[in-house]
Amino acid sequence: AGSGKFFVGGNWKCNGTKESISKLVSDLNGAKLEPDVDVVVAPPFVYIDQVKNSLTDRIEIAAQNSWIGKGGAFTGEISVEQLKDIGCKWVVLGHSERRHVIGEDDQFIGKKAAYALSEGLGVIACIGELLNEREEGKNFRCLFSTNEGFCSWDNVVIAYEPVWAIGTGKVASPQQAQEVHVAVRDWLRKNVSAEVASKTRVIYGGSVNGGNCAELAKQEDIDGFLVGGASLKGPEFATIVNSVT
Ligand code: PEP
Repeated sequence: AGSGKFFVGGNWKCNGTKESISKLVSDLNGAKLEPDVDVVVAPPFVYIDQVKNSLTDRIEIAAQNSWIGKGGAFTGEISVEQLKDIGCKWVVLGHSERRHVIGEDDQFIGKKAAYALSEGLGVIACIGELLNEREEGKNFRCLFSTNEGFCSWDNVVIAYEPVWAIGTGKVASPQQAQEVHVAVRDWLRKNVSAEVASKTRVIYGGSVNGGNCAELAKQEDIDGFLVGGASLKGPEFATIVNSVT
């Protein structure tokens, strides 16, 4: 882990029922979590209120998406203002499932991120290459086509999630992840500033579990994790939180 505060997010995706989420929340409430770690969970929108009302304040809440601007006549969307109103502190943007299943592109994601940041919501910005891009030597999909609209990088966490590792059980090796995290910092140095490059937390996601997190967490530029499948099991998620070194 690097010098920034370790950050572990649980992305629950489109999973759960009132009942299963109540069990997960009670497991998380009972878990012993290392104090020096930022811990965030991202429930499906419809359960955010339930989670906010039952989960310990030790864990913050993220949404899994947000609209590009102020709310209004945008059927099916959820605005940043509404997320803040129900107590969300973060939003996950640019997840590979939204890019590759729903078809969101860098520019759209960049605009959403800029708007969320301008309204004071933290952004967990996901990037990561497809398998064929890795084979072609494009090790990471660049942040966004534009980040000029960002008012500040203080509330941004970058999640490097190689698409071939998400939900596949094929975790990147600690060296593979470390190499890309260094490349992300270089990109930030060149495109934003040296200060942002050194301060921004770069977390890894893709088949992280209770068994492989400790080796990954030892890498100098891995500042935490974004966890999918294993975040649905409270005790295993706690193990990942506590892998901070
Ligand atoms: C994710 O969806 O962000 C993720 C990393 O999923 P998993 O941990 O299941 O690979």
